[in-house]
Amino acid sequence: VVDMDELDQRHRVVVIGAGFGGLFATKALKRADVDVTLINGTTHHLFQPLLYQVATGILSEGEIAVPIREILGKQRNARVLLGWVDHVDVAARTVTATAPGLSYTVEYDTLIVAAGASQSYFGNDKFAEFAPGMKSIDDALELRGRIFNAFEMAELETDPAAIERWLTFVVVGAGATGVEMAGQIAELAHRTLPGQYRRINPKQARVILLDALDRVLPAFGDHLSTQGLRQLHRIGVEVELETKVVDVDATGIEVDTKSGHRRIESMTKMWAAGVAAPGLSRQIAEAAGAETDRAGRIKVEPDCTVPGHPEIFAVGDMMALDQLPGVAQVAIQSGRYAARQVKRRLAHEGPDKPFHYFDKGSMATISRFSAVASIGKFRFAGLLAWFLWLGVHLLYLVGFKNRLTTVLHWTVSFIGRGRSERVATVQQIFARTALKETGDTGGPAPSGPPKRLS
Ligand SMILES: Cc1cc2nc3c(=O)[nH]c(=O)nc-3n(C[C@H](O)[C@H](O)[C@H](O)COP(=O)(O)OP(=O)(O)OC[C@H]3O[C@@H](n4cnc5c(N)ncnc54)[C@H](O)[C@@H]3O)c2cc1C
Repeated sequence: VVDMDELDQRHRVVVIGAGFGGLFATKALKRADVDVTLINGTTHHLFQPLLYQVATGILSEGEIAVPIREILGKQRNARVLLGWVDHVDVAARTVTATAPGLSYTVEYDTLIVAAGASQSYFGNDKFAEFAPGMKSIDDALELRGRIFNAFEMAELETDPAAIERWLTFVVVGAGATGVEMAGQIAELAHRTLPGQYRRINPKQARVILLDALDRVLPAFGDHLSTQGLRQLHRIGVEVELETKVVDVDATGIEVDTKSGHRRIESMTKMWAAGVAAPGLSRQIAEAAGAETDRAGRIKVEPDCTVPGHPEIFAVGDMMALDQLPGVAQVAIQSGRYAARQVKRRLAHEGPDKPFHYFDKGSMATISRFSAVASIGKFRFAGLLAWFLWLGVHLLYLVGFKNRLTTVLHWTVSFIGRGRSERVATVQQIFARTALKETGDTGGPAPSGPPKRLS
């Protein structure tokens, strides 16, 4: 246990990541006698569960990505720093991060690591160029551009094969994200866009949802999986199960099925098939002598600390504990739990009970007025599940203004047929090119040794 008496200054907590785990940990330390430094690679807290609605033109990015500074503006013991943490020195207790053009180091007494998960292509990272994943606002806007552009290109084509290629959308992965994405593209094609084109009929678009497993929404159990499949069929999504993707290129996707190898011609593919912990997870585990699981998540003690390092907590998607799923509630609850441990130690209270996850249930939408929800012993499918989904997502969306405009946009899209957010900018394309030139930080490479930020 950390000896707080050794300290002659306020206890310094560094939090890496302002997702659900990091943000809720920071907020839970509001009244604690500590200085919190929250480091995040972007300036916003992202509500990932609604990314697919940004990608399909229902919501704007601002509605699901709130400035971290605004959220924590009134929390006097917290400061927010922009930067991608690339190294943690567990012996020196320092964190080194990189922002455009500079790098800096911050010291900690307690470290809470909540850097989430990245997309996994199961070793085939080259697929990413042709089938973007959906983890960030950049990903969602990239997909939005590709989806709406596909209809535009189809309108310009004269060759029937080319039109079909543009109007075929393939979503890989039939978990909640893939199902939601496929459902919304189908709604877009069948409800929103018809009547807006003169040569093509958007209703002819094919939406194909692939998965290597034999069911959709496997985490929801047999009953809801069957219901989900039925609802997907009803809205015209073609579901192909036990279908393994073996290659992806600019114009199509190659799959292995029980009946053999096949190619699907499609210009617009998206990947919602797997997650892995970011590289930082392995770096910390190696430095701390801890183990990681197959997805690279740090195997933590029952109190969410890294073995042998009670001063380092790993929470949310980055921790491997009791086979807990990578969902928002696990991140929120483990983030709050870590904050509580810090407060207990400062108050010289004994160790708390191990982290216990309270499962509040899970839900996924299929299309408007249609969802599946599993809460305790209860299973819901259809309209009731959809209303539950609506309420829960509004509740956890951070920020009052966002909730208001989100309700407005949902009214436009679900009661009406519109999509208010169909813009894809040229700037996005330039930004992507710049990122390729300059690396992940989006700025010039840091020069000189890291600055020390006290
Ligand atoms: C498309 C999608 C849909 C989802 N839908 C649902 C759903 O419906 N219900 C549900 O419960 N869960 C859902 N999830 C899962 C849920 O979003 C995650 O479990 C949750 O966000 C995990 O929280 P976290 O704090 O661990 O990580 P995250 O929320 O991912 O936050 C990690 C943060 O760390 C930052 N970061 C990463 N690396 C670094 C670094 N090296 N340095 C500095 N900052 C860094 C990132 O910018 C990010 O802000 C969904 C996820 C996705 C991607």
